[in-house]
Amino acid sequence: MSALPFTCLDDYDPDALSVARARQFLLDTVQPVTGHERVFVREALGRVLAEDVISPVDVPAHDNSAMDGWAVRFADLSPDGETRLKAIGTAFAGRPLDAKLGAGETARIMTGAMIPPGADCVVIQEVVKVEDDRVVIPPGQQPAQNIRRAGEDLQAGKAAIPAGRRLRPAELGVIASLGIAEVSVRRRLRVALFSTGDELCSLGMPLAAGAVYDSNRYTLWGMLTRLGCEVIDMGVVKDDPAALEAALREAAASSDAIITSGGVSVGEADFVKQLMAQLGEVAFWKIAMKPGKPMAFGKIGQGKESAWLFGLPGNPVAVMVTFYQFAQPALMKLMGIDPLPKLPTFAARCAAPIKKGKGRTEFQRGILFLENGEWCVRPTGHQGSGMLSSMAKADCFIVLEAERGKIEAGELVQVQTFEGLV
Ligand code: AMP
Ligand code: MG
Repeated sequence: MSALPFTCLDDYDPDALSVARARQFLLDTVQPVTGHERVFVREALGRVLAEDVISPVDVPAHDNSAMDGWAVRFADLSPDGETRLKAIGTAFAGRPLDAKLGAGETARIMTGAMIPPGADCVVIQEVVKVEDDRVVIPPGQQPAQNIRRAGEDLQAGKAAIPAGRRLRPAELGVIASLGIAEVSVRRRLRVALFSTGDELCSLGMPLAAGAVYDSNRYTLWGMLTRLGCEVIDMGVVKDDPAALEAALREAAASSDAIITSGGVSVGEADFVKQLMAQLGEVAFWKIAMKPGKPMAFGKIGQGKESAWLFGLPGNPVAVMVTFYQFAQPALMKLMGIDPLPKLPTFAARCAAPIKKGKGRTEFQRGILFLENGEWCVRPTGHQGSGMLSSMAKADCFIVLEAERGKIEAGELVQVQTFEGLV
């Protein structure tokens, strides 16, 4: 009996599984790995929080001034004329005023300084006149203005950052603002990777006739490293059943997930299929997309010695597209990221016509530019799935929906940028 829910895809057209359905299937099937470790705040950058960070304190810890100005008692102020108050001292950030404001009194106050007892309003310095020993406050002030309340940012006892969040610089700052030096994060995901193909040549070797340098291992290494995975690089494996079997067994024993490139296209899949059926449970999909139609997914090995398998196609652009669209979200789920980040797309005006057949989603490579305040996108030129330079030139995918046909210049298309700000 099948342990993986592949039967729920039984109704799919064997020549065209949709991108959305394939992605959803992966996300429904994999579950986060277990295992935590405690790390110092800086080492937590990019890691996935294993437990809520509970705030031990209120932030800010006390009512304080949002501006440089004068702390006053609102009840002292005349609603329709100037009020003259007596200055009794200054409150600095980290150096509170050592007195209580009495009737008719005010204190100079700096941004971040504790609101002195008795005061309930801060008047900005720009509107205040100082005449001899009197401070002149104009009318029109509001009660409680320019005061940051204790606990208005974070409250003691509440979750300041939820488990499942991948920590960015902002979260490191929040953790530090609570005085916390160490947090519990999920262990890193271990991902084994190898390339398959008799034609592949490693760097440093002369290129024989008909051979190509193995570039997929480098793009995959880069994408996995950026994702924060521990990468186990197993090199190049020949198109040979014994070599492939040995590599898959070793990878399954040492990793949570295995990523391979090549060997899943129709011409090659037969021996790979048989072998994978022996070693685990793997489905070979034809996804209605370009590039990246063939892909294998499943589980290799049993129990502790098992790993998820993502068998990506061999073409270098197809590797990157299928990694970003399928493997990356599934790996993020395995890493414990929850909720998964949105993959935002936005509309841009396409600067050139694009040939496209209906029935499959296309991920063309594009370059964004601004024209008269509007985002526009230009395809990078030839879009062959072996042309890796198209990925290197591009800064976005132009995502053309399956039901769409030819695109005319000037039409709106959806784009997905490569870089996230944080
Ligand atoms: P395959 O999916 O194995 O049929 O490979 C499809 C195409 O991708 C062939 O032209 C391969 O030479 C090329 N290819 C496969 N693996 C790699 C790799 N690791 N680096 C560069 N090109 C590759
Ligand atoms: Mg091959």
